[in-house]
Amino acid sequence: MRLKIMQTGEPVLREEARLLTPQEIFSEETQRLIHEMRDAMRDAPGVGLAAPQIGLPLQLAVIEDREDLLEAFSADDLAERERRPVPFHVIINPVIAYSSGEKKSFYEGCLSLPGFSAVVPRARTIRVAYLDERAERQFVEASGWYARILQHEIDHLQGTLYIDRMLTRTFTTLDNWTRLHKAKPIPQSHSDASNE
Ligand code: ZN
Repeated sequence: MRLKIMQTGEPVLREEARLLTPQEIFSEETQRLIHEMRDAMRDAPGVGLAAPQIGLPLQLAVIEDREDLLEAFSADDLAERERRPVPFHVIINPVIAYSSGEKKSFYEGCLSLPGFSAVVPRARTIRVAYLDERAERQFVEASGWYARILQHEIDHLQGTLYIDRMLTRTFTTLDNWTRLHKAKPIPQSHSDASNE
């Protein structure tokens, strides 16, 4: 089965998703869903996919930043973004326990808004408590790009899209980003702009 990724405008992307019970997490249905979401994320390809993006208002997202996705970027770009491979994992009922005051601003995109990108200030470091696919409590401290992915996916579970947090005047088509903005540094000084 190929999952369809919901596009912006679908009400489910704007709803607060509901928590999963341990019984639901253990169910065959949820276990199958996790595998289908993993495949859909890899097909896209993307580094994260939240259940509302496939039409399900559930607090569940899959994340993976694979080595081969990183090959498209220079060592400098990766270092600047603090981007390193992240193994596949599932976050269920996540809660952000801490966000650093320090923010970083980079262009990001979303599978529910294909073809566009914008600069989004995000906390550089966060700590997240969540349940894994065995309903076991996990705690992660993430920084750099992984922290950005977590914040983006957890936003999806609250009905928030990156366009709610972006620096609006940086909104661009991907074609224009590649042509005009990709090679340019992003000023970090505006990172305290009130765009939350
Ligand atoms: Zn997204």
